[in-house]
Amino acid sequence: MVGADMERGLNPAVERYYDTTLDLYEELWGEHVHHGYWDPGERPDADGADRHAATDRLVRELVAYAAVPAGAHVLDVGCGIGGPALYLAGALGCTVAGITLSALQAARANEKAQAAGLTDKAEFHRKDALDTGYADGTFEVVWALESLMHIPDRAAFFAEALRLLRPGGTLAVATWAVCDGGLTAEQDALVGQILRHQVMPNFSSLAQHERLARDAGFADVASADWSDAVANSWDPGFAQIRRFEHGRSLMRELARDRGVDVLGFFYAGPLMKQGFDTGVMRYGALRAVKPVGAAEAVNPAAAEPPRDLPTRIADLLSEVIGEDRAGPHGIGPQTRLDGDLYLESAELAALGESLRRLYGARIDLSGLIAGLDIDQIIALTVADVAAYVAGLR
Ligand code: SAH
Repeated sequence: MVGADMERGLNPAVERYYDTTLDLYEELWGEHVHHGYWDPGERPDADGADRHAATDRLVRELVAYAAVPAGAHVLDVGCGIGGPALYLAGALGCTVAGITLSALQAARANEKAQAAGLTDKAEFHRKDALDTGYADGTFEVVWALESLMHIPDRAAFFAEALRLLRPGGTLAVATWAVCDGGLTAEQDALVGQILRHQVMPNFSSLAQHERLARDAGFADVASADWSDAVANSWDPGFAQIRRFEHGRSLMRELARDRGVDVLGFFYAGPLMKQGFDTGVMRYGALRAVKPVGAAEAVNPAAAEPPRDLPTRIADLLSEVIGEDRAGPHGIGPQTRLDGDLYLESAELAALGESLRRLYGARIDLSGLIAGLDIDQIIALTVADVAAYVAGLR
């Protein structure tokens, strides 16, 4: 990054970096522009397949850690070429708006959505995370997978995420971070190189991220250090990375064609490996919830947009069980959960979890059903569940 970019803010440099490296990431990493996740002791193969399985897995780990509900309306901050968003839209039935600073990434992600038949579920735009234009309370989940470390004003990011979430909504973050406490001069030099090559302003620690989330007004804030699970991502044994590290002439050619910033892509590997090996680089997930009632407290005009709760719950239920089982007329307020759909306990648990995340921790669908007798269970409709939820909100 050159000085002029610093003065205009980091965004133009981030945009250029992802514009010029799009094909490199896609060829070497696939559709996921983020670390992989491995079990302790697991060693990645050199053929790239493991890397892909591991990057897929990281998305699922973050879904599980933050309890992202099926069928949620998600803002994907820093969506890359849409790998994670298309998983959320496909496997999880979410509706996703993905944003990235790179117009080329947004276009590629839209192409991939088209190819996956998911254009009604996922769309991608070139937008800045701090200037999205979305109304207060638009999303049930704000998802930021390896984008936070590019954003200099992290307090503003957490404040904006809170604004964009509806009460009870979930923030799910996974991010590069730095160890707690002061750095030695040597550590500082290493971190400085990583920041420069990866177009990041600075790193915060996982504890600092937690504090920022709480200060912004989030509740149920927690974070997990995943450094050991992701560090293999920089294993020089990955054949495809080694191939490029040895291809000096190719690197020279790329730098000539695209500008020297593109080389940051190649330099990251050994630097990040050293960073994880020495413990100065960390990686973690963070989850947080917008408190129910916070919108009214923060901004009286920001009340949740009026929505028909029975219809909303019917939609959630369709996402949980899949359209095939919903029947030709779909699911509506009068649909009986057990009487019509023969809901299985895992499906009931998934619906219950989504309701709890969206409408408050007091909601206990399994508890409600456990208190009914068999005739009442058979007669229980979506509208009954909506009435129960409304009573507890
Ligand atoms: N989450 C994606 C991509 C991670 S790469 C994945 O896991 O595959 C980092 C992404 O963050 C890039 O798409 C970059 O454009 C985006 N980004 C960085 N700063 C941003 C900002 N201020 N607003 C929007 N996107 C940003």
